[in-house]
Amino acid sequence: KKTHVRLPEWLKTDIPVGDNFSRLKKDLRGLKLHTVCEEARCPNIGECWGGGESKTATATIMLMGDECTRGCRFCSVKTNRAPAPLDANEPEHTAEAISRWGLDYIVMTSVDRDDLPDGGAAHFAETVQLTKSKAPKILVECLTGDFRGNLDAVAKVAVSGLDVYAHNVETVENLTPYVRDRRATFRQSLSVLEHAKRVNPKLVTKTSMMLGLGETDEEVMDALKALRGISVDVVTFGQYMRPTKKHMKVHEYVHPDKFAHWAKVADELGFKYVASGPLVRSSYKAGEFYIKNIVQ
Ligand code: SF4
Ligand code: SF4
Repeated sequence: KKTHVRLPEWLKTDIPVGDNFSRLKKDLRGLKLHTVCEEARCPNIGECWGGGESKTATATIMLMGDECTRGCRFCSVKTNRAPAPLDANEPEHTAEAISRWGLDYIVMTSVDRDDLPDGGAAHFAETVQLTKSKAPKILVECLTGDFRGNLDAVAKVAVSGLDVYAHNVETVENLTPYVRDRRATFRQSLSVLEHAKRVNPKLVTKTSMMLGLGETDEEVMDALKALRGISVDVVTFGQYMRPTKKHMKVHEYVHPDKFAHWAKVADELGFKYVASGPLVRSSYKAGEFYIKNIVQ
């Protein structure tokens, strides 16, 4: 007999869609731009593409292919130790497509490319530069890997003209070896965020954590303090959802009140903004939050 765990009410959603969403969806046709929002069937697409009151529409795209050299236990991206070489035309094509799409805030992320000497940092930087030269008004966030702690690679991205540098610690320090690929450490991730700000103090730095992996309150608190200690500006919290049975189990479906609690705590610790909720992903309404909390 089949048994399945029921999802709590707060994780069942209708996807709301508005005018802005329909327009972006239509404009995307023919641009050959693949968004994570659509491909991962993200439940937030209506809100992100809609852009809220400020009409600041956000979308996320993935650079450098769809095969990752790492294998984190929570992630559904395919692992390959030797992925296809980079497409040298990707920065130009991507920048052109973004500039023609009526979007306000773009999150550029990628798989981890430990096979490349610079981890793909130059490729990232080129994509940002070309995007900014074709569409100076579009806000750009890069969500990068840790570049194996290669701080020159971090610096290359940090001075490329982007507005927000994001790198996700994903979980608390104690759980990192069980959650992320063994090449990742919490301290190495802190060094990435710290270095980005050091080489470009105007940058907004940002990180994201999943809850429901078995972390204790004390561990979350320690992580927040460590992040504030290196002047990280923005933090987001979302529920870990198991992509397939091969991935780590959900330890707990964390109640929305608990997410609200962490938002309050992070706010009190001095983060410039916090997005926290069961369905929040690191790029959730990033443009809207940026306009509301950073620009004004
Ligand atoms: Fe796209 Fe991220 Fe928003 Fe999901 S949360 S719709 S992936 S921008
Ligand atoms: Fe997924 Fe990123 Fe880990 Fe690669 S490094 S497996 S893309 S979370």
